[in-house]
Amino acid sequence: MVWMPKYLDLDELSEEDRMLKEEVHRFAEEVIRPASIELDRMPPEERVKPGSPYFKVWKQIKKLGYHRMYLPENKGGPGLTPLQRYILFEEIAWGSLGFATALGVDMIPFVSAAFFGTPEIYEDLVVPWIEDSEGKFHGCWGVTEPEHGSDYLITLREEPELVAKFGKGNVVAEKDGDEWVISGQKSAWVSSAPVATHCGLHAQLKGSRSIAEGLFCIVPLDADGVKKGRPADMLGMRDDPQGELFFDGVRIPEHYVVVAPGFFYGVFFDQLLCLTSCGMGAFAVGLARACFEEALHYARQRVQGGVPIVKHKNVKLKLYEMFEKVETARYYVRKATEYTHKKIIEQQTADASPRHARAAQIYAKKIAYEVAHDALQIFGAYGLIKEFVIEKFFRDARCMLIEDGTVEVLSLEAAEDVIDNYEKEFYDVNHVMRVLG
Ligand SMILES: Cc1cc2nc3c(=O)[nH]c(=O)nc-3n(C[C@H](O)[C@H](O)[C@H](O)COP(=O)(O)OP(=O)(O)OC[C@H]3O[C@@H](n4cnc5c(N)ncnc54)[C@H](O)[C@@H]3O)c2cc1C
Repeated sequence: MVWMPKYLDLDELSEEDRMLKEEVHRFAEEVIRPASIELDRMPPEERVKPGSPYFKVWKQIKKLGYHRMYLPENKGGPGLTPLQRYILFEEIAWGSLGFATALGVDMIPFVSAAFFGTPEIYEDLVVPWIEDSEGKFHGCWGVTEPEHGSDYLITLREEPELVAKFGKGNVVAEKDGDEWVISGQKSAWVSSAPVATHCGLHAQLKGSRSIAEGLFCIVPLDADGVKKGRPADMLGMRDDPQGELFFDGVRIPEHYVVVAPGFFYGVFFDQLLCLTSCGMGAFAVGLARACFEEALHYARQRVQGGVPIVKHKNVKLKLYEMFEKVETARYYVRKATEYTHKKIIEQQTADASPRHARAAQIYAKKIAYEVAHDALQIFGAYGLIKEFVIEKFFRDARCMLIEDGTVEVLSLEAAEDVIDNYEKEFYDVNHVMRVLG
């Protein structure tokens, strides 16, 4: 049977792109979506127990090799194009925002180590992770702390007055011979922490002025001194468990520090946030599209005033506006992803544009919430009960406005970047053109 995409793709997809989209969509529809609905309704402790649907899906994700998607061929990956990575993320998120997030955070420690770590960490940790087809490995990303939520998700600039502004971190790292010793606590919201085996961890250098002076390392979560908190009972994103991580004098070998303290740490963090922003943008489009499709389907079935509600003008307009938002977000996020991936993954020049990556995340998150809100309205009271998946999507979309940085803080950060640099860069380009004649 020839697979027909549900929507017209304005990008000219190659045969390979189309096949990938079809494969991932089927998996999202048949495996991920049903498991995510089941997980959403389970108590937090049950979701993380061995045998829960979470692990069954995780094993299949690994078997399909989706965790390798960011790695180029010379680093053991499938060598996907930026567009293919985008497609994969949108389709998975269409099935479940939770599993898309789990896949995203799983990659952060290992892909960072593949790009910036030593050959030893590549052999010790990255190769076994690449080869995992059983779901034995699960990464997470330990950034935020009880006292540092938004503070940690904005650019950690080097200017002295800003360094002081961020304040001291909770998690600190200290060198002891050829090992590093880690102590402190990450926030209760670390995605996948309750089920993770390794954490890509940001820690402040002990004795330094603030979290801006830090390092990025990988901590195996079965190391002595690591403790996990209880899985959080969240409003949404319940298909990916969140929880605290505690470190009490945890020792890691020197080569598990992927990015050492120093100037490059700030650059690394900034570029990593560009990648995560594009990923979050793709997740938001996937979720928004899922909401739009549910609403369109429902509006054809539900009869009120003697006709299917899709015939009422207000419903028609709402559906059109939802379509418009999903489409515009998709192509902006794709463009930002293409640019960001070219700079960071292909050319490895570490000069992606934070403001464009942030704009992709912020815009897509906002439209996901608006589309989820309007979709629920089309369902009327049925949108408020658990029998219809739109109720879950709405809760997930609400979480997105906070996950990976609140939209307000990300917007303020991007605004400062635009105000400080937009005209300067324009002037510089014109100046160079003039000098070159
Ligand atoms: C579903 C989910 C998954 C998550 N996954 C992870 C994860 O994998 N790893 C991880 O480390 N963390 C994770 N987080 C944490 C997330 O990054 C933080 O919740 C987020 O950065 C906001 O921090 P906070 O909750 O402490 O809020 P706060 O920073 O306390 O913000 C509270 C309010 O104050 C506003 N505010 C704060 N600072 C400023 C400022 N400087 N200027 C203007 N307004 C400000 C905010 O906009 C917000 O409205 C996750 C969170 C959620 C909800």
